[in-house]
Amino acid sequence: MYAPGEKLWHFHGGIRLDGQRELSTGRPLGAVPLSAEFVVPVQQHIGQAGDVLVREGQHVHRGQQLTQVREYIGAPVHAPTSGKVIAIENRPVPHPSGLEGLCVVIEADGRDDWGDARLEPLEDYRALSPGRIRRRVRKCGIVGLGGAAFPTAAKINPLHEQRIHTLVLNGAECEPYITCDDTLLRHHAAEVVEGARILMHTLGGPERCLIAVEEDMPEAYEALREVLGGTSSGSFRLVSIPSIYPTGSEKQLIQVLTGREVPADGLPADIGVVCQNVATARAVYRAVVHGEPLIERIVTVTGRGVSEPGNHLVRIGTPVHEVIAHAGGYVEPVQWLLMGGPMMGVALHDDAVPVVKATNCLLAARRGELRAAGPVLPCIRCGECVRVCPARLLPHELYRLARAAEFDRAQEYDLFDCIECGCCAYVCPSHLPLVHYYRYAKSEIRDLERERQAADRARRRHEFRLERLEREKRERAERLAKKKAAVSHKADPERKKAAVQAAVQRAQARKAARGDTAPTED
Ligand code: SF4
Ligand code: SF4
Repeated sequence: MYAPGEKLWHFHGGIRLDGQRELSTGRPLGAVPLSAEFVVPVQQHIGQAGDVLVREGQHVHRGQQLTQVREYIGAPVHAPTSGKVIAIENRPVPHPSGLEGLCVVIEADGRDDWGDARLEPLEDYRALSPGRIRRRVRKCGIVGLGGAAFPTAAKINPLHEQRIHTLVLNGAECEPYITCDDTLLRHHAAEVVEGARILMHTLGGPERCLIAVEEDMPEAYEALREVLGGTSSGSFRLVSIPSIYPTGSEKQLIQVLTGREVPADGLPADIGVVCQNVATARAVYRAVVHGEPLIERIVTVTGRGVSEPGNHLVRIGTPVHEVIAHAGGYVEPVQWLLMGGPMMGVALHDDAVPVVKATNCLLAARRGELRAAGPVLPCIRCGECVRVCPARLLPHELYRLARAAEFDRAQEYDLFDCIECGCCAYVCPSHLPLVHYYRYAKSEIRDLERERQAADRARRRHEFRLERLEREKRERAERLAKKKAAVSHKADPERKKAAVQAAVQRAQARKAARGDTAPTED
C-alpha cells in the first residue's frame, strides 16, 4: 500500500467496471512461435514515419533497423527476425479507418539470427550522459507501450525549465480484460525497476519514482515489493490504487498520486512529472543494458471468443490470426475483434493485420459479451455523462456541437481535452455514440487546420511571387531610366559642342608639349 501517512487523491468522475482479468491471468506466459512472414508497418507511433532503409530482396538480421526517422517525434522500426525482404508495399494495418499503410514484409529464414544488429550493451548506464541514453532509446525504436505509442526519447527530454521531480511508472491497467502489464510485472519486475532507474538517471535524478499498480493486481504488487525490498525503498514508492476507470490514463493517474492536475493544454512535465508505462521502462532497460531494439511485446489475448485466453510474448509484425491460433483459435460466433480493451479499443476488420508496438490486447468478444449499444434515442439532458467525465467536460454539449458541425464552439468547450475514455457513452441512457462524434469532430478540425495551413502557405507563396515580380519590374524601370538619362546626356548639342572643343584643346596641348610646329614653305 501507499507509504503510511501519505494519501491518494481522486479525480472527477470515472466508473467502476467489471475487470474480467481472471479470464487471461490463469495461464502461464506463453510465446507465439515465429511466423513464416512478418508485416512491419513503418508508422507505429505518434509522429512522422521514417524512410525505409532496406530494399526488396535484401537479407535482414533480427533487430536490424528498417527505417530512419528524421523528425524529432519519431521512432524507427526493426526486423522482428532474420530473413528476406519480399515486399515493401501498402498492407492493411490496425487502424480504425481500416486504411492501408506502408509495410516492410519479411519472409523469415527460421534462423532468427541477430547478426551484428544487436547494439553494444551499455551496462554501466550511470556513467553515460542523458543524451547518450536518449539516443540509444531512440535508435532502439522505444515508444510508449501502454497504447499511446509516443516516442519515449522525446518524452524523457523535458525542457530546461521543466524541472522533473517525480517519475510515475504506470502499471495501472484500468481497462477491463487487459492484463499484459500485470503479467509483465509478475515475470520481469526486476527489469522494470532497473528501467525506472535508467529513466531517473536520464531525467536528471528526480526526487522520487512512484510505481502504481491497481488494487486487483496483488501478484504484480508482491513481485515489485520483493524487488524493492519493501513498499518504500530509497526514492521508490510502491502504490496500490483503486480500480476506477480510467485511473490508468496519464493525467488521471498523476492526479491520484500527486493531487496535482496537469493543465488542460499542458503536459505532465509542466508540473514536474514524467509518466511512463511499466512495459516501456522494461523496453528501455533491454535497449540500454542489452542493446536490444523493440521487436516484441507481451499481448493479452482474451475474451470469450478465444479458446485459451492468456498472455503471450509476440514479435511485432506477427499476423493477428496467428496469435489467436496460438491461443487455441476462435470460439465462434465472434462478434467483435478489438485491439485494446472494450472501452478504448479499435475494432479490427481483418485478422490478417499485424501486431504493432501499441498492441497491448486482442479481444475476441462473443455476442452479448460486451455491453450492447441499444437503440439510439435523443439526449434527455440527464447529466449522467457530466457526472462521470474525468476531464470535467460537458459531453452532451460536445455531442450537440459536433453533430451540428459547430467545430469552433466545440473547441471553446475544450473538445481536445477529451481523452476518449468512453465513460460518458457507457452511462448514457440514450445509447448515444458520443465518442464517435468527438473523434469525428477532432478529425474534421485537424483536417480544416491542415487545409488552413496549406492555404496560408499557398497565399504566402503567391504574395512572395507578386512581391518578386513587382521588385523586378521596379528594378527594370530603374535600369531603363538610367540608360535613357545617359543617352540624353550624350545627345545634348551644347554638351556635344563643349566635348568637341575640349577634345581639340587636348590635342593642341599634346602637340605643344611635343614641340610640333606647322610645316613651312622653305
Ligand atoms: S448521458 Fe446521454 S442523455 Fe444524458 S445528458 Fe449525457 S448525452 Fe444526454
Ligand atoms: S470520452 Fe471524453 S467527454 Fe466522454 S467522459 Fe471521456 S473525456 Fe469525458
